[in-house]
Amino acid sequence: MVGPTSQKLFAKAKTLIPGGVNSPVRSFKNVDGDPFFVRSAHGSRITDVDGKTYIDYVGTWGPAILGHAPLVVTQTIHEVAKSGVSFGAPCPWEIEMAQTIVDWVPSVEKVRMTSSGTEATMSAIRLARGYTGRDKIIKFNGCYHGHVDHLLVAAGSGALTHGEPDSAGVPKAFAGETICLPFNKPEAVAEVFEKMGEQIAAIIVEPYPGNAGFIIPQEGYLQFLKDICAKYGTILIFDEVMTGFRVAKGGVQEITGVIPDMTCLGKVIGGGLPVGAFGGKAEIMDHLAPLGPVYQAGTLSGNPLALAAGLAQLKELDRKHGWAELDVLGARLEAGIRGILKEKGLDFQFNRLGSMFCLFFTENKIINVDDATGADAAAFRRYFAALLEDGVFIAPSPYEAGFLSLAHSTGDIDDTLDAMTKAMKVV
Ligand SMILES: *Cc1c(COP(=O)(O)O)cnc(C)c1O
Repeated sequence: MVGPTSQKLFAKAKTLIPGGVNSPVRSFKNVDGDPFFVRSAHGSRITDVDGKTYIDYVGTWGPAILGHAPLVVTQTIHEVAKSGVSFGAPCPWEIEMAQTIVDWVPSVEKVRMTSSGTEATMSAIRLARGYTGRDKIIKFNGCYHGHVDHLLVAAGSGALTHGEPDSAGVPKAFAGETICLPFNKPEAVAEVFEKMGEQIAAIIVEPYPGNAGFIIPQEGYLQFLKDICAKYGTILIFDEVMTGFRVAKGGVQEITGVIPDMTCLGKVIGGGLPVGAFGGKAEIMDHLAPLGPVYQAGTLSGNPLALAAGLAQLKELDRKHGWAELDVLGARLEAGIRGILKEKGLDFQFNRLGSMFCLFFTENKIINVDDATGADAAAFRRYFAALLEDGVFIAPSPYEAGFLSLAHSTGDIDDTLDAMTKAMKVV
């Protein structure tokens, strides 16, 4: 149960904002609860308007990899804002950000900045279609690529029906250009390519899906996608909005060595400010306006404040060798959780890569969203509520990844494990 001030604010918010929130999953609807309203967030902690503080594993849904409000980011924002907050004309920050992305992300030779991950995926799909002259795209059930019309099909835990939109307002004709397949099943992809490979503009995939819990690709699966795309002249797009700069400096593509044609970025790249990006082979990217016929634009794209904040975060991560440190923290959390669940004798799956993780209450191995939806949702709700009560905030949905930050101390993790031990009494 959240405090009285949060309750009052939520009641008021619901009269003014649909559902009281500006992004649906914040509403706690999946966990039969009401959200707390935030007063402030620093480091690993988030404090609500009633004064209760939580150890936070949501991390503003991914961006807060240094923790909340890190000094390097807030100081940069203060400093840069003195020179202006938006120019609508090129500025040097854009070159520095582009250079950083090109240097760090193996697939990217040229890059265009956007203001959100959704814009990045939407534009990448348009570019892939414009470049190939084809309309159809393949996405995978349970992969989320932002609220783009063509991509809101089986995006997360929704219906898995072939070509049926998940959202009202998406024309059937749009959804019909999207072929939805199960993740981690190469034969499903091969079958579609055999039938209509020459019509497929792109495969878009979260290489480690993080919007259906957290799912690991099977050995060779990503390479298989790359090979079949190469064979048919289809563009392979890695949506690394969540994993980019999070699981490694160069994202999943650095870890696996599978280099896609194009990559979408967001979340960590903006340091908590609204930033996205898409990039890839120069030959493809040069089809964008003003060089080429594929139109894409943004009033606030390349915003100096947002890029400076993002760069400050990326440089600090790099300076601290943050990814290695995050993996050590992740391993500590994983070992603790595994120990607690084993002792309790509960069936579970725990998937983790560095600072991203997900606990599923099921005995079945999770290789795609079908398995994830088979996990015990009621157990998750009890687990979520018990943790929240005890001051630990995880995402209010069983289909979300958890995020560690460099601000999480080993003490935070030990406190979290204590809370989990207690929560197991009600799970
Ligand atoms: C969050 C997310 C998006 C959408 O990004 P927004 O900034 O919310 O528009 C796209 N793809 C993936 C994989 C994401 O996790």
